[in-house]
Order: sequence, then structure tokens, then C-alpha cells
Amino acid sequence: MAKNFDVVVIGGGPGGYIAAIRAAQLGLATACIDEWKNKDGGPAPGGTCTNVGCIPSKALLQSSEHYEQAGHHFAAHGIEVKGLGLDLARMLGRKDSVVKQNNDGILYLFKKNKVTFFHGRGSFVGRNDAGVEIKVGGSADETLIARHVIVATGSNARALPGAAFDEKRILSNDGALSIADVPKRLGVIGAGVIGLEMGSVWRRLGADVTVLEALPAFLGAVDEQIAKEAAKLFGRQGLKISLGVRIDKVTIEKKGKAEEVRVEYTDAQGGAQTLVVDRLIVSIGRVPNTIGLNPEGIGLALDERGFIAVDDDCRSNVPNVWAVGDVVRGPMLAHKAEEEGVAVAERIAGQHGHVNFNTIPWVIYTSPEIAWVGQTEQQLKAAGRAYRAGTFPFAANGRARALGDTNGMVKFLADAATDEILGVHIIGPFASELIAEAVVAMEFRASSEDIARICHAHPSLSEATKEAALAVDKRTLNF
Ligand SMILES: Cc1cc2nc3c(=O)[nH]c(=O)nc-3n(C[C@H](O)[C@H](O)[C@H](O)COP(=O)(O)OP(=O)(O)OC[C@H]3O[C@@H](n4cnc5c(N)ncnc54)[C@H](O)[C@@H]3O)c2cc1C
Repeated sequence: MAKNFDVVVIGGGPGGYIAAIRAAQLGLATACIDEWKNKDGGPAPGGTCTNVGCIPSKALLQSSEHYEQAGHHFAAHGIEVKGLGLDLARMLGRKDSVVKQNNDGILYLFKKNKVTFFHGRGSFVGRNDAGVEIKVGGSADETLIARHVIVATGSNARALPGAAFDEKRILSNDGALSIADVPKRLGVIGAGVIGLEMGSVWRRLGADVTVLEALPAFLGAVDEQIAKEAAKLFGRQGLKISLGVRIDKVTIEKKGKAEEVRVEYTDAQGGAQTLVVDRLIVSIGRVPNTIGLNPEGIGLALDERGFIAVDDDCRSNVPNVWAVGDVVRGPMLAHKAEEEGVAVAERIAGQHGHVNFNTIPWVIYTSPEIAWVGQTEQQLKAAGRAYRAGTFPFAANGRARALGDTNGMVKFLADAATDEILGVHIIGPFASELIAEAVVAMEFRASSEDIARICHAHPSLSEATKEAALAVDKRTLNF
């Protein structure tokens, strides 16, 4: 017999599981279907983010950062490390256990909030007066009838044409998070967030990393001044980055008993080049995932790029069918997916959920970290908007000096007439945490003077934020 729910969420990543929890909190009978399996075939909710994205990448970034600190930076603090070694299996095991803690945490949250969980694949069957009929395949073989459906089926890594992922030599984010031995030579195609984070992990662990990027500008979406600083610092760390390249051919070749990957490409000057590496990470973007969903079953429209077509409120073309997260337009970020999930659950419950796309923060968890919210200087120039800029370097911040982490800066962009903050850009220690203050400020439409007049703890990195706000008015106190 079919089971009836007010809301069925298909996909248990950050968009889906958060939407399900919020819907249940609002008193709606809610189910969530997720098909991700752990190594034993059991449920592993949390999606890309928890299993092969945000969480495991940050676990490895932290471990590899500790290794780099112990090997190269502890000496400056008077700490001698002799016989430093790398137990990669243990490092990867720790990462896996962090992932499992998160999977288990979500299953616990489902129970706590009375969300019914089905482990399997959800496919649309049809629609009638009772609601939308969904078949759950896999270990939970059920038919569900939903008054409302939230599709949150996420995205998959985009492969290079002619170079399918084998996850041994040619790796997506999945394989890149589980390489069993540190490759001597690692190639990364795509200098975006994922490519730079993965390249940083393996460089810190000893790989010789070359990054090939098709675009002529490094980190084109980032404020130019910050991107230039990042290129300088990453270059100093030994990350080799070539911009403006065209990948011509990727082949796996036998070399004795081993295999290597040969990347033939054309460089920015038009010269034919070859890069030979032990492993190749391909991080050239992600494609929306509707595999097995059977959108045709209910006439659910996709756009020309395969995303589920939705309006600003995440409504699809089918009444009472909504979609959130990576499977719809907008930035592919876990917190954007979560915000959309909450807003949709609230709309279903008759409330007025809202997502402010202008204040979604971005973070790249390299070292130094890069974080920003709002508009870049180049965007403001292109829009012809009059603005004032203020920057403050971490080199002039007492806490950063004490940490021994003085690279980078905080940069404010504020409207020339009203002083409203239009963008904040940070490269430096704990940028991922510091950006939250800027998000709050912009959400409340604060001026740079508002931040400049707020008391910040001393000594703290957040004083660099205050000083950058003061710099907009050319009155820094410590620089
Ligand atoms: C290496 C890497 C690092 C990242 N780091 C960050 C970061 O630091 N910060 C950040 O904000 N973002 C990060 N992201 C992006 C982030 O992971 C995604 O934006 C986020 O996971 C999107 O959430 P979602 O819920 O839309 O989809 P997903 O997380 O992809 O979840 C979709 C879920 O739906 C399931 N599913 C799909 N189809 C069906 C079906 N028919 N039936 C049942 N289940 C189905 C999938 O198995 C999956 O579990 C990273 C991504 C990668 C790859």
C-alpha cells in the first residue's frame, strides 16, 4: 500500500535533509529518500557535501595543513620535529570517520525530528488528485504519495570529453579524496575551488602539482586584487598554475608495470605541450543530477543545461513540485542549497521563506583561505557604480603576527555616496570565519562606518576587518 506524506524530499544532501528537517519542524508529515551507500551498502545521507565534498575535503585539508606546519613552520615557534612521518592510510581513515559521524548525525536528526527516511532511489511515477506518486527502489521498496515534493538530487562531476573518470588514474572529486599513495606527479585540470583545494592537499603531502586552467584569468570570479595575491602566494608554495590552456588529448599509458597519464595541451601562447603525471584530477565543473528521477513521469521541465527549471522561489513547472540546491540554477554551494531547502519548507507551510542571493558567502579553503561576499571591484566598475575601497593587511594585525600567519588582507568596498557595504573580500587566516561578520553587516545593509565603530576584541583577526572598514575612510589606526 502506498504511504502518504505532506512532503517527500528526494535527495538527502544539504539541500534535501535540511528541507526535510524544517518541514517536519513545521508539523508536516515528511519523508526523505536518499540513495547514497556507504562502503557496506548501508545508508549514508548527506549527499556530495558529506560523502565526497565539503566535509572530507576539509578533513584532509586540516590533516595536510598539520603535516605542512610540522614539517615547515613549527621550527619558527621553537618546536623541533624529528622523524616526521606520514601515515596516509590513517589520515584517510580519519577522514572517513569524520564523514561517518556526519552520516550518523543526519540519521539521528531524522529520528529526532520525525522525518521518515527511505534508503533507495526515488523516481516519479505520475500525478493524480491525491498527489505525486513516487516509487522508491533499492533497499526500501515502497510507493509514496506526496502532497508536495522537494527535489534535491544534487550534481555530479563533469568529465572531460574522451577522458572518462576511472577513479584510479583519472579522478573526480571522489577519487581525489581517496588516493592511497601520494602521487609523485599530480595534474589538476581546472583551477576552481575544488581543483585548488585538492591540489593543495596533495602538494602539502608531497606531490609535485601542476594545475591547468582554460580561462585566461586566475580565479576570475574573485576580486582581482585578491586573486592576484592568491596567485602570488600559491606560486610561492610551489603550485604550478598554467592559465589559458586548451586540453587536446588525455591518454593513460603503460610505463613498465605502472601507468601514467599523458595530457597533451596547447598553452596560452599557442605552443603544443605535454604534461605527464601519475594521477590526474579533473575538476572542470559539475552537472545537475536527474539520473533515475524520471522527470518525464510528471512532465517536470529541465532547462537547456539539464537543471530543473525553477522560478526565484524554487517552484518548478509542476504544481507542488519544488527543487533546490545543485540541481537548480545558482551557485553550487552547500549553504545555498540549505537556505533554499528551508525557504521552500516554509513556503509549503504557508510562511514566507526567503533567500538573499546577494549575501551568499563564498569560501576557498586553501592556505591562506579566500572568502568573499557581495560584489567585486571589477563588477562595480563594469556596473559604473561609484565606490570607495579600503584594505588592511594581516601583516599589520597583532593576532596574525602571533599566529605566524600574516599573508593576505581584508578589503571593503562601499558605496561612494551612502557608504553601504557592497562587497567584502578576504584572503588570509580564518577568512572562512571572518566573512560571517561581513555577511551579517550586508544582510542588515550596514555602512563601512558601522563596522568601523564596532568594538572588536583585541588581539583578534577580526580587528583587520574593522581596520579595513576604517581604511574606506582613509583612517586606519594600525597601518
Ligand atoms: C570536493 C568538493 C568540495 C566541496 N566543498 C564545498 C564547501 O566547502 N562548501 C560548500 O558550500 N560547498 C562545497 N561543495 C559543493 C557542495 O558539496 C554542493 O553544493 C552540495 O552538496 C549541494 O547539495 P545538494 O543537496 O543540492 O546535493 P548533493 O549534496 O549532491 O546531494 C544529493 C543527494 O541526492 C541523492 N540522490 C540523487 N538522485 C536521487 C534519487 N533519484 N533518489 C534518491 N536519492 C537521490 C544523492 O545520492 C545525494 O545523496 C563541494 C563539492 C565538492 C565536490
